[in-house]
Amino acid sequence: MTAVSNIYPTAALQAVDAAHHIHPFTDTKELNAEGTRIITKADGVWLTDSEGRRILDGMAGLWCVQVGHGRPEIADAVHKQMLELSYYNTFFKTSHPPVIALAEKIAEIAPDHMNRVFFCSSGSEANDTVFRMVRHYWDQMGKPDKKVIIGRWNGYHGSTLAGTSLGGMKAMHEQGDLPVPGVDHIDQPYWFGEGGDMSPDEFGVHIARQLEQKIDEIGEDKVAAFIAEPIQGAGGVIIPPETYWPEIKRILSERDILFVADEVICGFGRLGTWFGSDYYGLKPDLMPIAKGLTSGYLPMGGVLVSDRVAEGVIDKGGEFYHGYTYSGHPACAAAALANLEIIQREKLVERVKDDIGPYLQSRWRALGEHPLVGEARMVGLVGALELVPEKGNRKKAFADTGTVGTICRDISFQNGLIMRAVRDSMIISPPLVLSHDEADLLVATARKTLDDTYAELKRQGKV
Ligand SMILES: *Cc1c(COP(=O)(O)O)cnc(C)c1O
Repeated sequence: MTAVSNIYPTAALQAVDAAHHIHPFTDTKELNAEGTRIITKADGVWLTDSEGRRILDGMAGLWCVQVGHGRPEIADAVHKQMLELSYYNTFFKTSHPPVIALAEKIAEIAPDHMNRVFFCSSGSEANDTVFRMVRHYWDQMGKPDKKVIIGRWNGYHGSTLAGTSLGGMKAMHEQGDLPVPGVDHIDQPYWFGEGGDMSPDEFGVHIARQLEQKIDEIGEDKVAAFIAEPIQGAGGVIIPPETYWPEIKRILSERDILFVADEVICGFGRLGTWFGSDYYGLKPDLMPIAKGLTSGYLPMGGVLVSDRVAEGVIDKGGEFYHGYTYSGHPACAAAALANLEIIQREKLVERVKDDIGPYLQSRWRALGEHPLVGEARMVGLVGALELVPEKGNRKKAFADTGTVGTICRDISFQNGLIMRAVRDSMIISPPLVLSHDEADLLVATARKTLDDTYAELKRQGKV
């Protein structure tokens, strides 16, 4: 019973990886020429690579490792569950104790009007489920013309056909001729990049009203739902202006369409509340979840269903011809339960709200004074730095979008901190167990990285 420990030299692993492994969201040819980084171990907020270097995991894996890496409690729960019942399905009128306990636990922490959950294995599958469930709902409610789902440009809802279509990543749409029919998009509330001469508050209302215009353009009788992340994650940690969600709420309250809050990143404490919807006072009809549900220890996702939607898809719905072999997988459910128990026992949600959240935010925002940084923003434990060629001028961006971000990301890795680059902004989303000392180190390393990047850009004549 051993894990796969690394006994090979880095170059040998890289060569085999290059020969046989196709990486997600990667230019494989470019990567193979360079050689992949290899992570061999992780503990708490720390990663170890194949050269034995320790790196602070500023991204919590991929926005998911809320409780930190290497928690024996979760491994033990999964081990026990696998010996007891490693697998059984939840189709055909069967269930099992871990999935029952998990469904109850999720209903307990969810908003009051959401009491049911459908399980799957990822955020993308959750959004495919949303796509079908929303349409099924309106069919059952006697409104089969309500089919269009409105998403947002630069939103992210996963990488499957429905996820890519609902999302608004143009580069993803171009591959595979997406979106599928029946999906439309409005602009994102990205004031720093797209706010022009408006104040953030004016811009928030202005963008929200695009939803109203879009619904009128398509016809309310044809619109099924609006889907959005409370804070866009993969799009670059786009924190909407304060006026945005209140205006969207007003529009939704006047229109008969479903609201889907994609909680895959914001859920499970990231914003200092159980869900992003709690943070912004939203009342969604459906909430796709994944990532923090298991802290990434095993793959699991789900869709939280409101009592309103349950009326259509359960009371009136008949059989919903939809499900996955691994819906409610017992070992994944055991991992999720152990993870949620840790979050509750260690009061991690409260900790993000009252302790480590404010602690990191004030230090992170101070990075906004750096000559390379146009804006430093953070809510809970998710934040971004906008890198700019000319401080104080939001309208000027670097040529070849993404080049500077990639330089900064690579320097950050060399300096011992994982930050992700989105275009030319740097993103962090660290584990919720980050200590004060680790937060200090994170900010000091980010500052050194900005200094080093600035020097490199000077050398290249880019600033
Ligand atoms: C990551 C993500 C998804 C997709 O989840 P996967 O588990 O990668 O399929 C969907 N929505 C949001 C908001 C995400 O961040």
